[in-house]
Amino acid sequence: MSSIPHLTLNDGHTIPQFGLGVFLMEPGETERIVSEALELGYRHIDTAAIYRNEAEVGAAIAKSGIPRDELFVTTKLWNSRQTDAHSAMRESLDKLGLDRVDLYLIHWPTPERNTFVQAWLDLEEIRSQGLATSIGVSNFMPEHLEKVLDQGSVVPAVNQIEVHPTLQQREAVAANEAHGIVTEAWSPLGRGKADDLTSPVVTGIADAVGRTPAQVLLRWHVQRGHVVFPKSSRRERLAENMRLFDFALDDAQVAALDGMEAGSRVGPDPRTFN
Ligand code: NAD
Repeated sequence: MSSIPHLTLNDGHTIPQFGLGVFLMEPGETERIVSEALELGYRHIDTAAIYRNEAEVGAAIAKSGIPRDELFVTTKLWNSRQTDAHSAMRESLDKLGLDRVDLYLIHWPTPERNTFVQAWLDLEEIRSQGLATSIGVSNFMPEHLEKVLDQGSVVPAVNQIEVHPTLQQREAVAANEAHGIVTEAWSPLGRGKADDLTSPVVTGIADAVGRTPAQVLLRWHVQRGHVVFPKSSRRERLAENMRLFDFALDDAQVAALDGMEAGSRVGPDPRTFN
């Protein structure tokens, strides 16, 4: 949709700054929800092999009739396939019914396995073969990023990490910025579990700007230059979540949200998750 800005990645390709995440979406519901999102103007879908709904995402895309080059599709390499990325990529493409994805990510570093550098070298080949237009990583902390930068020849285009006001990951975001890597903020609403959506700071700003708490949180991410893809199964929330580009938070409101850091993780810690 024309009102959704695109960011330019370090490989020259562009990414819509806003999309739909489909984690924890039941396969039986995914096709309906993705279809509704596409009708509403969503053009960027974030899935993963482990979400077990790539086929339903692909079915919704096929039925939409939207030209392929107007869509941005991300999927991710699951941890147990880090030594087998070429086959895993082909399986994902088959399920999605696509001949390429726009972005392919290593889902987690799983440092104990010690295979993510090998996986990265395979993703570089996958990119060369045209099966993924851009490649990146997810949940990489600075020490994981350094290994890939040292031993690879392509700088990841994105690093998708958990970020919301109560978990800002400043060290990881700074490392991304230092290398020209776009930060994608997963669980941008704190998955509705952390205190972000109900915080008086957020609800107070929402009242002041005449928007919902979800829109305030998502706008905060957008103004930081991050990519977001909140998940919702409800059509009215899908519509609500994308109305972010016709208002702005002022410096004091951004500073108040910046002040919410509380170390509140909703997902695993990438340094120990294996
Ligand atoms: P989220 O922060 O997007 O929160 C989703 C939840 O927030 C919904 O289930 C609903 O309960 C609530 N919600 C949504 N819209 C709302 C609204 N307008 N008002 C009030 N409540 C609302 O959480 P998420 O799904 O974990 O993250 C988004 C996406 O990030 C995922 O779908 C997935 O694509 C990606 N992700 C990636 C990783 C990774 O390891 N790379 C991990 C988790 C999520």
